[in-house]
Amino acid sequence: MTADRPRESDRPRESGRPGEPERLLLDAMLGKLTTYLRMCGYDAAYALDRGAEDDARLLDLAAAEGRRLLTRDVDLAARAPDGLLLESRDVAEQLRELREAGYDLRLDERPPRCGRCNGPIEPAAGAATRPEYVPDGARARRCRRCGRWYWKGSHWDDVKRRLADL
Ligand SMILES: [Zn+2]
Repeated sequence: MTADRPRESDRPRESGRPGEPERLLLDAMLGKLTTYLRMCGYDAAYALDRGAEDDARLLDLAAAEGRRLLTRDVDLAARAPDGLLLESRDVAEQLRELREAGYDLRLDERPPRCGRCNGPIEPAAGAATRPEYVPDGARARRCRRCGRWYWKGSHWDDVKRRLADL
């Protein structure tokens, strides 16, 4: 489990954010938001990926890894040092709340983190291993941790539009 954790050198771009990029932990209600934040370059851990379903485990995990807790639970937000309460159920509204809180939400031309697992995405070496569903000619990249493929396609455009429309 620890062997494939991203190293320091895998950290995403820091431009637009002062100092070190903030590390985040999102509660079980915020799965969609987690994906967006990863695509924007944030190191965003998700409660259900980490087996942290109860409050005590979430608080422990946030403290152990130096992550800011994002939650929809009023009591939990109050208990976490620097916890951030999100009030909306809707992911677009949640993104707006985060932007108002000062988060830089732009889609990188080459998103550095896998939306599914938070692993580092890197250029895919050699076309031989490329699956058929990746379009020919696309500059494909791949998650080092889970192997998911990424390329600029319709999903990428949807996310970019959604962030631009906030
Ligand atoms: Zn991945």
